[in-house]
Amino acid sequence: MTTINKEEARKRLTSLQWHVTQEKGTERPFTGCYNKFYEKGTYTCVVCDQELFSSDTKYDSGCGWPAFNEVLDQGRIKLTKDTSHVGGNLLLLIANPDMVRTEVTCSKCDAHLGHVFNDGPKPTRKRFCINSASISFHSAGEEKST
Ligand SMILES: [Zn+2]
Repeated sequence: MTTINKEEARKRLTSLQWHVTQEKGTERPFTGCYNKFYEKGTYTCVVCDQELFSSDTKYDSGCGWPAFNEVLDQGRIKLTKDTSHVGGNLLLLIANPDMVRTEVTCSKCDAHLGHVFNDGPKPTRKRFCINSASISFHSAGEEKST
């Protein structure tokens, strides 16, 4: 795992980007800059620049956050069962298994990206629900930047 320079990252990132990636925050739905954004290109981790998602797998899930059907490579993310909003209440958890979410983090720098759910479209059925604040977009045609 790459150790990122937290001091440098803190200066470079906005307070929202910092909050989401380092404190496992969640941006407010429908506020993220990539929620309704469908340019062709690649999305990278905002902290370490690792390429994570392609615009080819991005779709409109209506959930208020950028949604992807697939990651570029499974090795680039880390999945962790997240029971944080159930707390230590095991009975609640047993009664409501859907409350266990799977957290998605960057495999390289551990930045919190969002969550993955199993209610997405074919073929993967996956819905990677990712905070705009965790990713950075790079256009496929760089010449467009003129
Ligand atoms: Zn990263």
